[in-house]
Amino acid sequence: MITLKEALSLSKEELNKFKEDLKAKIEARPELNAYIDVNNAGDGIPIAIKDNIQVKDWSVTSGSNILQGYISPYNATVINKMASAGLTPFGRTNMDEFAMGSTTESSFYGKTLNPHAEDCVPGGSSGGSAAAVAAGLAIAALGSDTGGSIRQPAAFCGIVGMKPTYGRVSRYGLGAYASSLDQIGPMTQNVEDAAILYDIISGHDDKDSTSADMNDKVCDKLDANRKLRIAVLPKYIENASKDVKNAYAKAVQALKDLGHTIVEKEMMDAKYDISAYYITATAEASTNLARYDGIRYGNRVVGKNLEDTFIQTRSNGFGDEVKRRILLGNFVLSSGYYEAYYVKAQKTRHIIKDEYSKIFEDVDLILSPVAPTVANKFGELSNPMDMYLSDLYTISVNLAGLPALALPISKTENNMPVGLQLIANAYNEQTLFDGALGLEKQINYTNQ
Ligand code: GLN
Repeated sequence: MITLKEALSLSKEELNKFKEDLKAKIEARPELNAYIDVNNAGDGIPIAIKDNIQVKDWSVTSGSNILQGYISPYNATVINKMASAGLTPFGRTNMDEFAMGSTTESSFYGKTLNPHAEDCVPGGSSGGSAAAVAAGLAIAALGSDTGGSIRQPAAFCGIVGMKPTYGRVSRYGLGAYASSLDQIGPMTQNVEDAAILYDIISGHDDKDSTSADMNDKVCDKLDANRKLRIAVLPKYIENASKDVKNAYAKAVQALKDLGHTIVEKEMMDAKYDISAYYITATAEASTNLARYDGIRYGNRVVGKNLEDTFIQTRSNGFGDEVKRRILLGNFVLSSGYYEAYYVKAQKTRHIIKDEYSKIFEDVDLILSPVAPTVANKFGELSNPMDMYLSDLYTISVNLAGLPALALPISKTENNMPVGLQLIANAYNEQTLFDGALGLEKQINYTNQ
């Protein structure tokens, strides 16, 4: 597959031919179920778009039954920014319903398969985007990351996935899951493409009140040879599998060989991150999803009266995982429990943020696992608690609002990709991409 950088220099004729071929390739791999829908109208370089990002006049369903039939009336800001740069939305990619999940098994459209092993999950919730890029069915894709949903599927599928600092990329037109955590980001074949796509979609937007008033770009200054101070976390990685630990050791060696300074640091037990995240995310989700009432958007089941219509529509339209989270979110926000859960989670969030700030007083980047294991088999995380616990290495980054980039490091004996992430301080995307670019070159991973 050509890279995004290469695609930017194709002529219009070459691009049209490429898009015809790409459509045929996608149609030849229906079993992967990476795409929900493909549409090769529109000029420009084709980019795969997660099904929770609005593209005008196109169905957008967040992988849910409740949004069947809903057509987007406007473009998300990222889509307009892409259009200005000559990029066009090409297909909608599969995802966990409302971006809640780590496996892409909870989609209304059925599961997406991991292109490296079809009995394994592609990760989630942006599993369709990751599988499409990994299988050579997309030049690049957009995903969204609330607690790891770009980085973890990227790691499971052996591609690059980047979550920007909170506020760097407009959330206008992104179906909200947990508004204080959500960010759109690039999922690409390599680090340079991620930087290119990041530059295109980032920047201030009046339509998003949490958008940072900054427009810094990274590509012009990319420097793979910069010498950095990088934190490693010997105790924090103890909960990871042997495969992940091996990849970690390999990456540490590569960073040393590159001449970076390695500094040992520690982070508090991730069990607090998981509690704080699942309280915060479900609380926000319960209010964000209140708007799906059968009246304003998509599917409606007509009941005996208005209230019954709400009940029937929501009971029928949402899947089990989404219902579980709405219930949990309402519980932690209810009077009597609000102080005990929600307020405590916000305090924990501050502690996590402070912990990162302290580490970044001494270092430029942190090297961390993305997930405790490589891609698991389908059904292995069917217990919701097990699934939540598997997010231990990604969610603190969202709670602290930091930028992070997952990239492939090695393969297991079974040929499954192992990815790791670099984490930078807020608004320090330049350092993140510089460090990642150097590491990528040194590692020289191939997805074959
Ligand atoms: N797995 C996490 C969750 O289910 C993260 C999802 C995401 O980043 N959208 O909430």
